[in-house]
Amino acid sequence: MVAEPELQVPQMIHFAAMALVNLMGRSLEEIEEAISGLNEPKYRARQIYAGIYRRLLHSWDHFTDLGKQLREKLKEQFTIEHPPIRQVFVSRDGTRRYLFEVPPGQKIESVFIPEDRRDTVCISTQAGCAVGCLFCVTGKLGLRRNLTSGEIVGQVLALQSDRGTAAKRLNIVIMGMGEPLNNYDNVMKAIRLMTHKDGMSISPRRITLSTSGVAPGIRRLAKEEVIPNLAISLNATTDSVRDMLIPINRKWNIAALLETCRGFPLEQRRRITFEYVLIEGVNDSPEDARRLADLLQGLKKKINLIPLNADPWIPLKTPSWDRILDFEKILVDRCITVNIRRSRGDDVSAACGMLAGREEPAADAAIPPGPAR
Ligand code: SAH
Ligand code: SF4
Repeated sequence: MVAEPELQVPQMIHFAAMALVNLMGRSLEEIEEAISGLNEPKYRARQIYAGIYRRLLHSWDHFTDLGKQLREKLKEQFTIEHPPIRQVFVSRDGTRRYLFEVPPGQKIESVFIPEDRRDTVCISTQAGCAVGCLFCVTGKLGLRRNLTSGEIVGQVLALQSDRGTAAKRLNIVIMGMGEPLNNYDNVMKAIRLMTHKDGMSISPRRITLSTSGVAPGIRRLAKEEVIPNLAISLNATTDSVRDMLIPINRKWNIAALLETCRGFPLEQRRRITFEYVLIEGVNDSPEDARRLADLLQGLKKKINLIPLNADPWIPLKTPSWDRILDFEKILVDRCITVNIRRSRGDDVSAACGMLAGREEPAADAAIPPGPAR
């Protein structure tokens, strides 16, 4: 006797589940379009939109402002999926590193940094990164894939749900895994969702996008209706050093990058942040500090000095604190606003450049303890 093929029932269930449309990452207009077949009044889309992005709902049962019948209809066709949190690593300084898993089995990360007045959420835009900077652990992974707008904005919503934090308490920094301007459309859509008045309603002034210097992307960003703060990972003052550290410098060198920055529109009291990872013997000399001040002359700016977060994967060292403070002083003497970025969450691999989807809490390297500041 020939056995019945055994796949029918489970496969049908599987297909039925697959057919559900995930509304996470959809705009208000797209939600209107998606539910148009339900013959509901137009304001329903706005209620659903507010539920997803403002009230952080991700189960139809919790949409108490919609009738039970409508909820049942929605359940049959749609889901709202936050990216699933696989693990959370909590640092002794309170920083939390969230490890998510997105299909097909890619690990991505976000970091929640609690602060007095506002909390900062650092989100990823790609699984891995193609730029391959010499000093960055994410770059060692290569690019696995771009994240969708839903996966990008979903990181913020998932962290908010986990911490019970209101959107208005948040600063968003797009500085996690990936080069945001290499995933331009999805990142821009996520920014529009974050700033939309009917949803998260986060001011663009509270959002900072950091780029390794993709000049055409910066020019495109300059023409958007919603423009976040711009941070440029400069990290060197000569093309020969920058070519070595950030390979895309061969395409858009320091002069081309800064020319683009000079054309970037800045509203009143807004500035471009220049990030400068300090690496012993590579870019940390007094001449570098002076060249940096010269290069950025005339730009509305602030400089963030980031002492290299060392890691066994990276063949580079962190400068001594004396060297870091000497570098800072040269800039301060030139009347430049400069901060030395405290390393947060370094004991759980949550610090800048350390995001690699690691499932263990920490790398066995950290920057040397700094002086009391
Ligand atoms: N791809 C974007 C944003 C993610 S990287 C960019 O490069 O700007 C975020 C920041 O971490 C960048 O300023 C980068 O220069 C910095 N960074 C990367 N690796 C680092 C490390 N090992 N130590 C300190 N900062 C690092
Ligand atoms: Fe990519 Fe930024 Fe890391 Fe460079 S520093 S490899 S651009 S994530």
